[in-house]
Amino acid sequence: MRSPLPFILNNKGFVEDIKHLISPNFERRLPNEAINLIVIHAISMPPDQFGSKDIEKLFMNKLNFDEHPFYSTIKNLKVSAHFLIKRTGELIQFVSCLNKAWHAGQSSWNRRANCNDFSIGIELEGSDKKEFTEIQYENLNALLEVLCQHYPIQDVVGHSDIAPARKTDPGPFFKWNKIRTSL
Ligand SMILES: [Zn+2]
Repeated sequence: MRSPLPFILNNKGFVEDIKHLISPNFERRLPNEAINLIVIHAISMPPDQFGSKDIEKLFMNKLNFDEHPFYSTIKNLKVSAHFLIKRTGELIQFVSCLNKAWHAGQSSWNRRANCNDFSIGIELEGSDKKEFTEIQYENLNALLEVLCQHYPIQDVVGHSDIAPARKTDPGPFFKWNKIRTSL
């Protein structure tokens, strides 16, 4: 699925004309808390499998944790991201950019802890074992473009950059040289 380019971000912090699935897993961003960082993640559910709706279900607290052995290890995990870009390129938004999604966990960037407080989280459907798709990079770049226009973004990093002891995503197959921003 090809999304319309460029994306339009409205004043409620939502990209228009894409699928919105609202996650309850967020906190309010305070007016004085600027968004300075974009964090890129990779996720697959079940691990290394693509195409299910289980990522969406996880972020909406609707996943049946009995459905797969791996899921029982993350039982009652409450997480989210602002955006998910599926293998097809489809862009889905779960949390308004005006709020803090629960994507980074314990993390720090430039000696600032708790990256959720000042970042936007973008998940790509992917894993440490496989290339991402071209349409994912295209739509990621279009999304980065609109986010960098609206917010004082200073850096785009991987989850593994802000939580190196815990996280490997977006992983060895994520090609940073395909990222185009005006930063
Ligand atoms: Zn991550």
